[in-house]
Amino acid sequence: MHSIESLIRSVADYPKLGVTFRDITPLLADAEAFQAAIAAMAAPWTGQSIDQVAGLEARGFIFGVALAQQLKAGFVPLRKPGKLPPPVRALDYDLEYGSDRLEVREDALTPGSRVLLVDDVLATGGTLAAGRCLLESVGASVIGASVLMELDALGGRQRWAAGSDIHALLHY
Ligand code: 5GP
Repeated sequence: MHSIESLIRSVADYPKLGVTFRDITPLLADAEAFQAAIAAMAAPWTGQSIDQVAGLEARGFIFGVALAQQLKAGFVPLRKPGKLPPPVRALDYDLEYGSDRLEVREDALTPGSRVLLVDDVLATGGTLAAGRCLLESVGASVIGASVLMELDALGGRQRWAAGSDIHALLHY
């Protein structure tokens, strides 16, 4: 089996000069390695009574759905604006340049449901922090976050509020 790490492709100067993009699509295409990655991402959360996995659009959907199946949990998509029919709850958050918005179906979660937040990459941490805030605004209890990889130098983990943990399978 190819190692999970060997199936992450580093692309220099994409999407802009000076940025190294970590491309996960070779991993997704490898049956054994993809399955091994999902099993390893799920392991720390097994037995933690997770009701729903919430995935961040778009690559968080891929890992989130697979983790939901593994953890026998439901799946809730956190979407970019204008994709979900009403009623939705929205949250605006700042990016390095400009801002963005996340939306969730207002009645997707019952108050107190135990939710695991999932994405492919933790970079500056703004996306995960916004996802957590949005989930908490509809009454969910965010028990943690799971990402395939964390870009350690960007310090995104520091934007994650205390009270729950982030698990990253790979570190760059
Ligand atoms: P953050 O908000 O932590 O700065 O950025 C994380 C978001 O940007 C994630 O939703 C992730 O999909 C995307 N992202 C940032 N850098 C990369 C990268 O190098 N590779 C991939 N696949 N996604 C990235």
